[in-house]
Amino acid sequence: MGGQDVRSRINSQEAKVMQLQRPKFVYMGGRLRPWDEATLHVGCEAVTRGLNVFEGLKGYWQPDGSFGIVKLRQHYERLRRSARLLHIPFNQTYDEYVKAVRDLMGALLEPDRDMWARTTLYVIEGHWGENTVADLVVTAYHQNKQIPQSINLGVSSWRRSADVSLPARIKTSTNYQAGRLARIEGRARGCEDMVLLNQWGRVAEATGSCVLIVRDGAVYTPPATEGALESITVDIVEALAHSLGIDFFRRPIDRTELLVADEIAICGTLAEVTLIREVEGLPLHKEPPVLRALQDRYFQAVKGTMPHPFVELSCFSAS
Ligand code: PMP
Repeated sequence: MGGQDVRSRINSQEAKVMQLQRPKFVYMGGRLRPWDEATLHVGCEAVTRGLNVFEGLKGYWQPDGSFGIVKLRQHYERLRRSARLLHIPFNQTYDEYVKAVRDLMGALLEPDRDMWARTTLYVIEGHWGENTVADLVVTAYHQNKQIPQSINLGVSSWRRSADVSLPARIKTSTNYQAGRLARIEGRARGCEDMVLLNQWGRVAEATGSCVLIVRDGAVYTPPATEGALESITVDIVEALAHSLGIDFFRRPIDRTELLVADEIAICGTLAEVTLIREVEGLPLHKEPPVLRALQDRYFQAVKGTMPHPFVELSCFSAS
């Protein structure tokens, strides 16, 4: 594949987040506001120290015409845990959180487009942990409904920071600096995503998703203690694997084990289940049987064509 082709694939992959979209509304300060009015002051800690915690949510149109958000309660709980670890007060109840998300998504929904939303607690008042006040901000972007194409994966020279420096368990924007550098590095090498190794040189996760490998028919993923986010999608994939009779284990993965894996995928709320066709220039199965079965089952569950009891969807009607 020529360099230009690789770059256009990369661009289309990145366009998934739709950073170029400027949706009509943003939820901020307890209500919907026009996009242009959703601003933060340059003096607040959210800007000066990048202080925030956030969650990315995915919603899919369902066969009954409702719109379903995947594992909303689990995202709320993880947002609470991230906020707790950074001493950011988070006062919203689950119901208030759901209302904020629904208000915004409901206002922006378009037929035939799914949506990805980001719920962020930005620290808008306070100084070095004193008198901290945060505001819940929700932004949402349209997404196409296609199943993701398989991608090229590289292994970055950048590392996931250790639990004693910037814990992967905290979902905060500052935790994405290494991932950003890894993506810049990957782009120059024709890779659409990159794996970050942890402080011990083993697989931690990809820049915005977790890593799944298959060896001899069983699926393996590094546990959170290896420097991966406590992923909601990994929990889903584990439950789906069990119901398909596929063995699923969480254990450390060496870099060389990644390179000799039979099949590889990355998974996350936004990455969904994306198959890997090449790792560090080494080609993989075009039709990886185990991960393709898990990918198919994942989309059946989140799109509601074959629900799964573990994959709860918070559905609302789009009126
Ligand atoms: N790791 C990182 C760094 C991420 O940003 C994400 C996406 N939230 C994940 C892993 C996957 O987590 P989840 O399945 O909960 O979306």
